[in-house]
Amino acid sequence: RLQPVPELVATLADETRALQDVGPGILLGVGVGMPGPVDGEEGVYRGTSDPDPWRGAPIRRLLAEELGMPVLLDHDSRAALVGEAWSQPGLLRNAALLLVEDGLGAALCLDDQIVRGAHSHAGEIGHTVVRMDGIPCPCGRRGCAQREHRAALERGEDELAARILAEVVVNLVRLVDVDRVVLGGRTVHEQHEASMDAIREALTAGLSDEPWVHVEVMLSTRGTDLIAVGAACEVLEHEYGLPQVLVGPE
Ligand SMILES: [Zn+2]
Repeated sequence: RLQPVPELVATLADETRALQDVGPGILLGVGVGMPGPVDGEEGVYRGTSDPDPWRGAPIRRLLAEELGMPVLLDHDSRAALVGEAWSQPGLLRNAALLLVEDGLGAALCLDDQIVRGAHSHAGEIGHTVVRMDGIPCPCGRRGCAQREHRAALERGEDELAARILAEVVVNLVRLVDVDRVVLGGRTVHEQHEASMDAIREALTAGLSDEPWVHVEVMLSTRGTDLIAVGAACEVLEHEYGLPQVLVGPE
């Protein structure tokens, strides 16, 4: 199903060259957001043990060589969170973004820092277990959140799917104490209301003993473009730094 790496790089390069027509010297670089596991530091797609033609591919180096310009590669959910932080300067100092596409990923900003982790894998929340002895997951465990969520959707059990997302979010909030959760990705974008309601409900129930803890649940401001916009923002951030607040005239 996936095209071989040389074709993938050629496709990305062609798309980028089409953008360069906007004018000379306009592009600072190219940002690529990929589903994980991705090593953003090394610029390598790590992949999974499934037959995966991209496993171990140094996408960043290959694309940079092809285009002759800087390339930044990152995990899709982390790119999306950077994009949101650019859209809402100063708001997402302690925030999680939950990306719901084919899989389920999270990105974290804690104390104003985007979290990467020891192997650049922070946020693989799709592979945290929500049901003991549940459905086998390609990662080797059973009952992983993304496997159970996908299965619920395939069975038409949308309410259960929304509850799985909600429990994942509450676990995340309990673990890292964020005050904003951004929900995004094409699987939830069209019908986000049910998921947002389930998340808010689960948060209220899960935090009822701590009335001083407030967590705002928001929908991505970038629609289904959140990964592409975010990857582009990462290039800008690399060049200019993350915007803190918008300052108006005195
Ligand atoms: Zn798994």
